Amino acid sequence: MKLTFLGTGGAWGLPELNCDCRICRQMRLGNEKRERTALLLTHESSLLIDCGPDIRDQLCRHSVSRLDAVLITHEHGDHYLGMDELVSFKRTSPRGEFRPIPVFLTARSWKVIGAQFGYLEKMGVITVHEVKPSTAFRVKEFEVFPFKTSHGSFALGSVGYSIKVGHNPGNAAHLVYTSDFVDLPEHPTQIFNPDYLIIQSFWLNEPRINTPQHMSFQRAVEFIKLWKPIQRTFLVHIGDGDWIKGDPANKMSKKREPAQPMKPPQGGSHYPVPLNQEEWEGVVEEICADYGLPCKCTVAYDDLCVQL
Ligand SMILES: [Zn+2]
Ligand SMILES: [Zn+2]
Repeated sequence: MKLTFLGTGGAWGLPELNCDCRICRQMRLGNEKRERTALLLTHESSLLIDCGPDIRDQLCRHSVSRLDAVLITHEHGDHYLGMDELVSFKRTSPRGEFRPIPVFLTARSWKVIGAQFGYLEKMGVITVHEVKPSTAFRVKEFEVFPFKTSHGSFALGSVGYSIKVGHNPGNAAHLVYTSDFVDLPEHPTQIFNPDYLIIQSFWLNEPRINTPQHMSFQRAVEFIKLWKPIQRTFLVHIGDGDWIKGDPANKMSKKREPAQPMKPPQGGSHYPVPLNQEEWEGVVEEICADYGLPCKCTVAYDDLCVQL
């Protein structure tokens, strides 16, 4: 099985348009970027999780010529606005051979997304499959269990997905993909002890006011300790909203002052806010060791491919 991190950024990508904060400036200097978060899972079939506005370039870069299913996590633009690009899979198929791509999402998400992209179903580009939290379904060799996540009043349809990959349940690889969330109404057994956890890390430090309801790495540490992934955790949906001492950009509305900046549990000065990939890797490695996290934690970056 292969994981391809097509994009690893927050809702407006990094560096963000018009933004001269220290994070965006540092990333421009190093020619770094993070596109909107999406993940491709490839085994015998290909499963795409989320389909944001960067999806065309993302799929082109990896020469993805077939999608067997798409899972949508919730009705925010950065997770679905690229759905019109799916039309190309039909346009380029030999006449009469195309089979619509099954798209899975909650009824609440489809209520919003269908208002814009309902025509894709009428055109025979997609078939829509409404999923219910805590009701498992199978698509190709993927056993999928959607679980309810809390991501604010503008994303009432949000879910994460626990996915087992393989035909034989005895040796299936188990992945948990949270997408955007701040909490869960309940923790179903299906999300404990996955082989791989893919979790949002929108800020390093938990902000004093957590709007619009995202997961910081500081907060994610508690979920990682609770769910105990076995092989590896991957961080995605990384933003630039961390408040950085002395940065004039702190006045921007997206910047969030930390509640209590993260420190080693044994005390000492707080960890520096990472400005780019290298600094994220350094600080996450330190935190994993200091907090005794159960497995290695990788800061994903765009186009990272991992063979599992
Ligand atoms: Zn998002
Ligand atoms: Zn969201």
